[in-house]
This record gives sequence, structure tokens and C-alpha cells, in this order.
Amino acid sequence: MLTIGCHLSASKGYSHMAEEAISIGANTFQFFTRNPRGGKAKDIDEEDVKSFLKIATENNFGKILAHAPYTINVCSADENTREFGITTMKDDLARMEYTPYNMYNFHPGSHVGQGVEVGISYIVKALNELIIPNQTTTILLETMAGKGSEVGRTFEELQQIIKGVNHSEKLGVCLDTCHVYDAGYDIVNDLDGVLQKFDDIIGLERLKAIHMNDSKNPFESHKDRHEKIGEGSLGLDTFVKIINHPKLRNLPFYLETPNELDGYAKEIAVLRENYKE
Ligand code: FE
Ligand code: FE
Ligand code: ZN
Repeated sequence: MLTIGCHLSASKGYSHMAEEAISIGANTFQFFTRNPRGGKAKDIDEEDVKSFLKIATENNFGKILAHAPYTINVCSADENTREFGITTMKDDLARMEYTPYNMYNFHPGSHVGQGVEVGISYIVKALNELIIPNQTTTILLETMAGKGSEVGRTFEELQQIIKGVNHSEKLGVCLDTCHVYDAGYDIVNDLDGVLQKFDDIIGLERLKAIHMNDSKNPFESHKDRHEKIGEGSLGLDTFVKIINHPKLRNLPFYLETPNELDGYAKEIAVLRENYKE
């Protein structure tokens, strides 16, 4: 069965997101743990969580994906910014234990001129500080487009982070289709070759989720501008190949395309039609 959903607003709580997901043909979803600019998180409503867990079980939901605010930067040159990122992620992970065994995606960060090696060392340090050995949540490093000084634009950088983390069994990777294409991995013409590279460098067992985004820009442009499925430089065929690929077809897929709910419903329907059971 195809596990697919999209990014939803968390403002009305977990059970509302689950119902919204069902209404658009999704069986999972992604959401921001708090305002993407990094404000305070809403208090957990235990009744809401309870009814969410019931809906998710009854409807065979796949793992849901929480996304950290994209403004945190645990490899900033500024110590307060790094600390703020760690505190925010710790708090998010504590909250995620109310909905155990799901996933938490974050952007590794931007080294802002310190160099990628320094950036990686800060990210490793942060993860070693914030992972709790008995947490049930898997933390995902997102593959990045390489805009500015983003860390995580190559599989080698992600592997270097994973290698440095003590409890790396809590880590996985979320592959963003727009970002990897922007970063110079040609999933349009050589999906097999890119997956082979991923396997050689990181190991495909680390791949836990796919962000499904077409791209407004051509190959290797390092811009990170998402486009609707089939309307950008990746094209619908690429997405049909991705969801049916023997090494990917059982992963959860999350759309982050520029859409409202009805647009997401259409994309999910098109992808479901093209999924070979
Ligand atoms: Fe992201
Ligand atoms: Fe993404
Ligand atoms: Zn993006």
C-alpha cells in the first residue's frame, strides 16, 4: 500500500490533522512542531493525542513526520543560536513521546562561513547532547539543496554526521527530491545510480522518508524552490518511478508542494493511480 501524505497545519491539533489527511486521501502527514520561525510550542492536549492515535490505528496510518522549525541552526557561529536550537529540539523530542515511534526531521544547518567541517562538528555535538538513548522517535537529517552554506548537500556530509553520533541507531535520512536534484543528484535520468550512491555512502537502511517536491529550477541550481508535482524540472514520470521503485515503494512519502488542501488531494490521487500494488 502506498503511504502518502502532505504537510498540514498543526494549529488545530493532531486529530484534526488526521481527519484532514483522510479527507484528501492521505494515510500519513507532516507538520511543524511549532511556528516555523521557532516560537513556543502549544501544550500537548492528551485527549487530542488519544483520539489521534485511535484514528491513526483505525485507518492504518504510516508514521507521521514532525518537522523542526527551519530557522533553528545547531551549527551557527553564534553560541546562543546553537543552544537555542538544541533546547528547541530537546523540547520537540520530549513532546513527540506522546505519539511514540514516529519521526522528527530537521535541517542539519548552515555553517555560515565557518566551513563544512566545523559545521558538521557542531551538528554532531548537538545530536550527542540531545538524543536520549531510550527515545522512541527516529531523528531524520534532511538532504539539502546546498543553498548558501547549507550542510547536508552531499551524502558524504550526512554520513559524516551519522558517524560522529553515539546513538546513531536513532538517526535516519529524509530524502527531499527537489533538494537532491538541486544539489546535483540526477534522480530524473539516473534514479538507480543515485540510490546506489546513497547505499554505498550512507546505506539505504538509513533512508526512512521521502519529501516529494518538484523543482522550479533546473538540475544542480542550489535554489530550493518547490514546485507542484509534474509542473517542474523533475516531471511526473520521475515521481511515478520513485513511488514504484522496489527500494523506495514501502517508504512514507510526504508532499511539500505549493498547494492548498484540494491541490494536495489531486496530487495524492494522481500518485495513487500510478502506484502498482
Ligand atoms: Fe525541510
Ligand atoms: Fe523538504
Ligand atoms: Zn525545500
